Amino acid sequence: MDYADRATIAGPATVFGQGGIGIIRVSGEGALPLLRRIFQTQRPTSAFTSHRLYYGRIVDESGDAVDEAMAVYMRAPYTYTREDVVELHCHGGAVVGRRVLDLLMAQGARLALPGEFTLRAFLNGRIDLSQAEGVMEVIGAQSLLGQKIALRHLQGRLRDTCTALRERLCDALALVEAWIDFPEEDLDPATQEAIGGLIIQVHAQLQGLIDSFRTGRVLREGVGVLILGRPNVGKSSLLNALLGSSRAIVTELPGTTRDTIEEQLDLAGLRVRLIDTAGLRQSADLVEQEGVRRSRDKIAEADLILLVIDGHQGAVAEDLAVLEACGDKPVLLVINKQDLGARALPEAFSGLSRIYLSARTGEGMPLLRDGIRQVFLAREPQADQESLVVTEARHHDCFTRCLDALHRALGTLQKKESLEFLAFELHAALDILGEITGETAPEDIIQRIFSKFCIGK
Ligand code: GDP
Repeated sequence: MDYADRATIAGPATVFGQGGIGIIRVSGEGALPLLRRIFQTQRPTSAFTSHRLYYGRIVDESGDAVDEAMAVYMRAPYTYTREDVVELHCHGGAVVGRRVLDLLMAQGARLALPGEFTLRAFLNGRIDLSQAEGVMEVIGAQSLLGQKIALRHLQGRLRDTCTALRERLCDALALVEAWIDFPEEDLDPATQEAIGGLIIQVHAQLQGLIDSFRTGRVLREGVGVLILGRPNVGKSSLLNALLGSSRAIVTELPGTTRDTIEEQLDLAGLRVRLIDTAGLRQSADLVEQEGVRRSRDKIAEADLILLVIDGHQGAVAEDLAVLEACGDKPVLLVINKQDLGARALPEAFSGLSRIYLSARTGEGMPLLRDGIRQVFLAREPQADQESLVVTEARHHDCFTRCLDALHRALGTLQKKESLEFLAFELHAALDILGEITGETAPEDIIQRIFSKFCIGK
C-alpha cells in the first residue's frame, strides 16, 4: 500500500447483489468533480450542500442512464476519511454496482484497496490504530456483549487508556531524567519512591488489561460446548431444550454435509457453538455408536463438556467411563430427569460443578445457561459496566511486553543500578504503548492490520 498515494478512490461500501440498496463510496479530492460528471439532478451539482442527500440519475459517458440513485457529497474534514467523500446509493444489484464502479474508474478514480478508507481515516488522524481495529471488530462482532465491547474500542477507550498510562510513565521518566544529569548523586529516597509508585500503578493497570484478554478471547471467538453422555440420559432432549429455550439462536451454520452443521446459541452475549449436534440428532448416541475413544477429537475441540447423567437412574459404570474420557477438560455435570426424582451420585463426581434439571419439563434450564456463562465469564463485569476488555491478540502482546519492560524497570530501581537503564526501560514501555495506538507502530504492522480488512472498508 502506497501511503503517499492520494488518488481518489472508490469502492463498494455494501455487499452488492443482496440488499435493496447498494452504496458506493468515493474519497479524495476528485470526489465532487467525479460526482458532477456522472450524476444528473434537477438542481445543478455545483449547488450541492454538504452532507445532504440528493435524488438523481447516474449516467454513462454517452448520457445513458445507468441507475436511479441518491447521492451525498460530504466536504472534508467532517467525513470518515477526513477527505472529500461522495456516496452513491444505487439499487443493490450486482450488475448495477459493477457498472457504477466501472464508470467511476473510467472517469479517473482508482479501486480502493482493502481497508483503504479506514487507513486514510487513520493516516489523516481521525482515528488511531486501535480504533481502526475497533471498526473491524464492530463489523465482525457475533454477540451482543462482543459488540458492546468492540464499540468501546471504536470510540477510543483503548487509546484513552494508553494515553493515561503513557502520561504516568512520562511523569516517571521526567523524574528519572532530571537526575541523570547528576550521575555523582544518588537518587533521593522520596524521588525513588515517587518513580516506583508511578511504575507500580501502571504495572497494576496493565495486569488488569492483560487478564481481561481471557474474557476478550471468549467473547470474540465464542466457545465450543460438547454434550456428552451414555445412551438415553437425555442428550438430544437437552440439545432441543437448549435450542428451544434460547430466544436468540444466532444461526444454523450451513455446511456442505449434515455432519458439519453446528448450532450456535447466544447466551446473554456469550456465543456458544454446540459441537457435533448433527451426530447427536442422527444417532442420539455418540458414545455407543463411535465408542468413547472415538469421541476424543470432539472432546479435544470442546472448551466445556456438558456431561449428562440420568439423575433418576443414578450414575452407572458407563457414566464413569465417559467422565474419564473427558480428561482434564472443564466438565459441567448435568443431572437430568429431575421430574422423576434424583439419586445421590458416587464419590467420583463429587468435585464437579453440577446443575439439576429436566430437559423434558424445562425446569432448571435457566440455571444451565447461567452455569455455562459462569464457567467462562465469572470474572466478566457486566456489559453495561464500562469496563475495557482486551480482545485483540496484538494488544495483548503489546501490553505483555510493556509489563515486562516495567518489571525490568522496577528491578533496576530496586538494585539502584544506573538511571540510564531505568530510563531505557521506560522509553521502551512508552514505545510499546504507542504501538497500540499506532504512533510508534512499524509500517509493516500497520499494513498487516489493514490488509485484513475487506475492500470498501
Ligand atoms: P440421548 O440418547 O441421551 O440423546 O437421550 P434422549 O434425549 O433421546 O432421551 C432418552 C429418553 O429419555 C427419551 O425417552 C426422553 O423422552 C427421555 N427424557 C429425556 N429427558 C428427560 C427428562 O428430563 N425427564 C424425563 N422424564 N424423561 C426424559
